[in-house]
Amino acid sequence: MDQADLKENSTTDAPLGAMTGARYIESLKDGREVYIDGEKVDDVTIHPAFKDMVGEMARLYDLQNTDQYRDEMTYVDPESGVRTSVSWMLPRSAEDLAMKRRNSELWSLLTWGQLGRSHDILAPYIIGSLHRKEMFSAVKNPHCDFGENLENYHKHCMQNDLFLTHALGDPQVDRSEQTQNEQRQVAEDLEVALHVVEETKDGVIVSGGKQLSTAATHANECYVSLSQTFARRNDPNCVLAFSIPQGTPGLKALAREPISRWIGSWGHPFKMLDEQDCMLFFDHVLVPWDRLFMLYDSSPMVRMLENEGGSINFNFLGWANLCRAYVRMRLLTVVATMVAEAIGVVQYREVASKLGEMATYCEVWRHAMEGVEHQSEPTPSGQWSLGHTRGLHIWFAQTSWRMTEILREICGSGIIMQPSEKDLSNPEIRQYLDKYMRGKDVDVEYKSRLFRVAHDLAASSFGMWQDIYEYWHGGDPARNRINLLRGFDQDEMRDMIRTLVSNPLPHGDAV
Ligand SMILES: Cc1cc2nc3c(=O)[nH]c(=O)nc-3n(C[C@H](O)[C@H](O)[C@H](O)COP(=O)(O)OP(=O)(O)OC[C@H]3O[C@@H](n4cnc5c(N)ncnc54)[C@H](O)[C@@H]3O)c2cc1C
Repeated sequence: MDQADLKENSTTDAPLGAMTGARYIESLKDGREVYIDGEKVDDVTIHPAFKDMVGEMARLYDLQNTDQYRDEMTYVDPESGVRTSVSWMLPRSAEDLAMKRRNSELWSLLTWGQLGRSHDILAPYIIGSLHRKEMFSAVKNPHCDFGENLENYHKHCMQNDLFLTHALGDPQVDRSEQTQNEQRQVAEDLEVALHVVEETKDGVIVSGGKQLSTAATHANECYVSLSQTFARRNDPNCVLAFSIPQGTPGLKALAREPISRWIGSWGHPFKMLDEQDCMLFFDHVLVPWDRLFMLYDSSPMVRMLENEGGSINFNFLGWANLCRAYVRMRLLTVVATMVAEAIGVVQYREVASKLGEMATYCEVWRHAMEGVEHQSEPTPSGQWSLGHTRGLHIWFAQTSWRMTEILREICGSGIIMQPSEKDLSNPEIRQYLDKYMRGKDVDVEYKSRLFRVAHDLAASSFGMWQDIYEYWHGGDPARNRINLLRGFDQDEMRDMIRTLVSNPLPHGDAV
């Protein structure tokens, strides 16, 4: 992509509306620089490591345009008259939030609750920032108004229904010398951290790395900013938030090894949802002035992360993560239950209790979602935001592990010992499979496929990836817990304890 193309991609083009599968696939042929296993990829849409996921996204985009889903997944933007995805809709009422909930439920259900970086996960991120547009505008720059940039960028994404990824953290090179260690004012390592190299009349030139960005192989654009861990920088040149097309010259993505690839069986039912993760290398990348949201001063991000403004919630993820987690939890629970039934252990007290533990998590989450919806309220920008969710995301990071652990425990060795589809069609061994590998009241085909679903959720490289994703994707849970604690209101209870310990207990009769 050269500078002329970049201009074509700018925020002023005629709107294209709700994405379709074909348009999405074409949009990825933008000269993006992607590497995998030592190879430079010509076209991510046909490369074996990426084409399944691209196809899956295209399927979803087509679905949102069908009679069945159009009214739930798209809407007509009142300002532009363009029909586009509900993911990008600015919620102006509780009804709008309910519509967004249904859209997120559909994205989650249609992808089995396994697509962490779905189309509707970065849209709320941008919308969440827009809730505090004035904070971004408060930082002045002679070249642009950051709040206006954010607003125009949202319009551009909304009217063209773009799919974004994001990249927040610094490369994992040396964590001993970094600014998150609050007590130590160490210098940034400019060899590593993304930073401004120079300003030009067109924008800023940036270099450095980001670890990591899920879906960078097949996203249209990348939103780059600072994570909770890295929000406080010592060198202002490292304070940046912007969004650029994935095909921008100088932006290079290194993809990890693909997961769940073995094809010699019914195998990996979720393999089409390998959404990839990439290291991003920025080598003198031009970020135009109108794509910058924060520069040299991280106060907007710090203030938002600290939830300044009292009760008004800065909910980065909207419904997307809540709905996806709920689908994932119910999926893990039902698969564990069906596995227990298929091998005749469901009636055992210990097993039933573990299944009940999983059901408890589902119920807690459902109640929490209702609470979050109940606490929704208008924001200073005139939109509506859901209630607080920060504790929820931390809780899910730890609970998801527990649920896959239970699933593995209930499966026993069956999670790995199942015949492949080709074994099933081999007449030489089929009689033994029918006899020794069937389950309780179920034949070997049903049982082996069911256990393969369990395997892909909790034991395969896909399942392991998903576990790791759930734990880390929202940032370091330890850091998030600390941040939560710092804003956690304990005054009422503290006063009660102070009162208690300031007075002697009344004398009672000694026993
Ligand atoms: C599957 C997956 C997908 C992801 N997708 C995205 C994405 O799309 N976009 C994105 O921006 N990020 C993404 N992330 C990155 C994620 O936000 C980070 O993994 C997370 O913030 C932790 O950072 P890290 O991996 O660099 O670990 P580190 O920060 O290097 O932590 C390693 C270990 O050291 C400990 N540690 C680190 N620093 C300190 C300290 N100062 N004091 C005490 N202990 C410390 C940590 O607790 C941890 O145990 C993804 C991560 C994963 C695993």
